[in-house]
Amino acid sequence: MKLTVKPLKQKDAGRGLAAVDRVSMRELDLENGDYIVLSGSGDGQAVARVWPGYPEDEGRGIVRIDGRLRQEADVGIDDSVTVEPADVKPANSVTVALPQNLRIRGDIGPLVRDKLSGQAVTEGQTVPFSLSFGPMASSGQSVPLKIANTSPGGTVVITDSTSIEISETPAEQVSAGGGPSAEGVPNVTYEDIGGLDDELDQVREMIELPMRHPELFQQLGIEPPKGVLLHGPPGTGKTLMAKAVANEIDAYFETISGPEIMSKYYGESEEQLREVFEEAEENAPAIIFIDELDSIAAKREEAGGDVERRVVAQLLSLMDGLEERGRVTVIAATNRVDDIDPALRRGGRFDREIEIGVPDKDGRKEILQVHTRGMPLSDSIDLDRYAENTHGFVGADLESLTRESAMNALRRIRPELDLEEDEIDADVLESLHVTEGDLKEALKG
Ligand code: ADP
Repeated sequence: MKLTVKPLKQKDAGRGLAAVDRVSMRELDLENGDYIVLSGSGDGQAVARVWPGYPEDEGRGIVRIDGRLRQEADVGIDDSVTVEPADVKPANSVTVALPQNLRIRGDIGPLVRDKLSGQAVTEGQTVPFSLSFGPMASSGQSVPLKIANTSPGGTVVITDSTSIEISETPAEQVSAGGGPSAEGVPNVTYEDIGGLDDELDQVREMIELPMRHPELFQQLGIEPPKGVLLHGPPGTGKTLMAKAVANEIDAYFETISGPEIMSKYYGESEEQLREVFEEAEENAPAIIFIDELDSIAAKREEAGGDVERRVVAQLLSLMDGLEERGRVTVIAATNRVDDIDPALRRGGRFDREIEIGVPDKDGRKEILQVHTRGMPLSDSIDLDRYAENTHGFVGADLESLTRESAMNALRRIRPELDLEEDEIDADVLESLHVTEGDLKEALKG
């Protein structure tokens, strides 16, 4: 049966789930907790655990999966995907490889089993393991675990009685299967962005659609957009969005920092711009992200010097000259949209402007969910309340809040840590929790 792919809600990402609407579940004869294979039009496949979809999906023929599963199945949002029941066996034992810089003393097996319980895994696969502690961990991020071996083979499900072994070989040296993103492609997915659903839809329509389906634009006889301008206060998720779009379409990602490019020696700024565009065209599909566009392209009457004029002229000519129509797109960001040179805002350049504003309460809750997704939070914590009490906070502020809370949790267990050792005790890891008090204190700070 074919279903349409949609993203999961932020809080449900990272657990190998597929939210299938109930009507489709019945038609496929699926029960909550069954496993399905999702296959895209290419040869990508993903195995996921079924979970009854969100009420609003009822009868719409939708399957919601997160960015990792979309990547494995090689599908994008709104693509159609074939869904069939999967034949999976319970795992007797699974060997996982940890990243090299994560050094743990004692048995971390039970913790891994706990977190991955219920997930379907295959040898060679990389699965995220959330750990808000240790050298790799920053809030909301997870550590890539490599599945080095399974018994039996094939796709197996980790259960409470699976024995988890830790491989002697670090993850980096275990041969690749469906590894993380290719070089140059960021790892951010739509589930990592909170409170910007409408804005994301607009950006996707402008960028993803032309890149995935150039034929549509050819058929209609219109040119796909060359650039999109995101504007709004700092820390609201503009960069995050650009990275997520690039990742979802497996596009090469190049960043140009406005201030950095303007600090180059005479003539070098233009040269560097040219190189970035060249690189992007060579690696197309590609997204060029220009951060702080205002520092390059302030209105000409304000732009004092000859340098600014020449750099803007170069940028205009590079954008006009983009050959692979729709295959290289520029996303620029600014928090001073009114200062941008109008020449750049006219037809055929950044002709779509999308405002990325300060999040409201619901947005703040989603952002908090993103950044606490990997954290062992105490049950008593009510994120709604924190969303309520953080009026005026942007995404970056909420991220610091959750990180600070995790640091507070860390400080509490500090006496138990032996700082002379560069390994972390598995027992200490297991006992680590972010409490209401940690969050409160972070909010005060
Ligand atoms: P901008 O480009 O708008 O200045 P960024 O995208 O660089 O902001 O945001 C900085 C950090 O703040 C991000 O890496 C992310 O951790 C967090 N953040 C900002 N906005 C959001 C959001 N909408 N959802 C989740 N996290 C966010």
